[in-house]
Amino acid sequence: MYKPLVAVVGRPNVGKSTLFNAIVKKRISIVEDIPGVTRDRIYFDAEWLGHEFTMIDTGGIEFIDSDSNIFTSMRYQAELAIHEADVILYVVDGKMGIQPQDQEIANILRSSGKPIILVVNKIDSIEQEVNIYEFYSLGLGDPIGVSAVNLMNLGDLLDQVLEYIGKTPVEEDAEDAIHIALIGRPNVGKSSLTNALLGQERVIVSNIPGTTRDSIDTHWQHEGTEFVLIDTAGMRRKGKIDIPVERYSVIRALRAVDRCDVAVLVLDATEGVTEQDKKIAGYAHEAGKGSIIVVNKWDLIDKDSKTSDKFSEDIRRELVFMQYAPILYASALTKQRIHRLADLVKFVSEQQNMRVSTSVLNELISDAQLINPPPAKNGHPLRIYYMTQASVKPPTFVLFVNDPQLMHFSYLRFLENKLRETFGFEGTPIHLILRGKK
Ligand code: GDP
Ligand code: GDP
Repeated sequence: MYKPLVAVVGRPNVGKSTLFNAIVKKRISIVEDIPGVTRDRIYFDAEWLGHEFTMIDTGGIEFIDSDSNIFTSMRYQAELAIHEADVILYVVDGKMGIQPQDQEIANILRSSGKPIILVVNKIDSIEQEVNIYEFYSLGLGDPIGVSAVNLMNLGDLLDQVLEYIGKTPVEEDAEDAIHIALIGRPNVGKSSLTNALLGQERVIVSNIPGTTRDSIDTHWQHEGTEFVLIDTAGMRRKGKIDIPVERYSVIRALRAVDRCDVAVLVLDATEGVTEQDKKIAGYAHEAGKGSIIVVNKWDLIDKDSKTSDKFSEDIRRELVFMQYAPILYASALTKQRIHRLADLVKFVSEQQNMRVSTSVLNELISDAQLINPPPAKNGHPLRIYYMTQASVKPPTFVLFVNDPQLMHFSYLRFLENKLRETFGFEGTPIHLILRGKK
């Protein structure tokens, strides 16, 4: 299902993060325990009165060329929100009152014509309500006073959000379809690949209903499986976007990754893996998405029998956390191996959804411990009582142990490798969670 996007914009310290934390759904604690998965996300799912939406914390984004100037950074935040969001929450500080920059940002937001809710935060009590009046001068309509800390008026705020996003019923997306995000830097061949991939298929191109944005998802069927290609960076509408899109292309790619089941990272064979590729691949990995790496423009490479192995080695070294991703050497131009992509996506999706029974897992755990005894600290050995699969997409396993502190990183790696050797799980990250005896 497409979820409307609500962006939160505002100067540092006005209380965006606090507000954000008060509104977004609590993360399931099981996810927080995953070692190594602590990075800040910028997208979060939220829900109010049965309506789901996604919130984006534009304050959490570092803009590369914003030269640490707060106003420039604010302007970028605002532009990003204008370009991407369905509703913008503009947060100001009711304790400090209006600041000079508030007006300038308000002007940028107002001229966009996007739905904007002016949120005066830090109105912690009824007596402070009078502080909201001066903000009428920003020309953004009625301000709403809230206290993110005391959770005051947040319900009214969310009601207003729903007034904008809840009016148009969002058409059900094809839930069972495999959602694909083709990601990669400009000019690696994403559009060409899309056309080559879809060349043989009967496709339906659909605007996402109920939104003001120009995202176009492509639906098609291939041998009985339904696919949806998520539009990234206006791929199918080149040249239509008039504001500096480059700056936001990464953000858009991340959004597509959030919505996808399988991310297809497209590389240019003549260029290899760039920093931006690593960033996006890292995001897909941490979000637990399936991944496939396509090395496109393979026609441009002089090859002998070792060339692809050499390329694979380089990719494995650069994207060290993503050893599980299949690599496809392809050419959108000559269509070499393009026909394999849909099957590969389907395969990875199946791997993500695979379930292993607890009895089979426990056999694996006993065998693994025989080959390689668990680590110990100060004479206390780690004991693994049993393991069970808690969820799919990504496959997530819970290990019940005597004391999680005794686990060693390398032993987790060993267990992950055993799982992969035995069951495959190709193209998908695996999460291992430790539970100790209380
Ligand atoms: P951000 O930089 O905009 O994300 O702001 P933060 O959420 O980090 O908040 C900045 C400071 O304002 C912190 O010290 C918060 O505790 C405080 N703060 C946030 N919301 C409120 C509020 O509703 N009332 C009061 N009094 N303080 C708040
Ligand atoms: P995008 O920006 O990632 O969507 O890239 P495009 O699909 O627009 O491709 C960028 C350029 O690379 C165009 O000139 C394409 O014709 C060219 N191109 C794309 N795929 C291939 C390929 O497999 N081989 C060769 N030689 N050129 C390609």
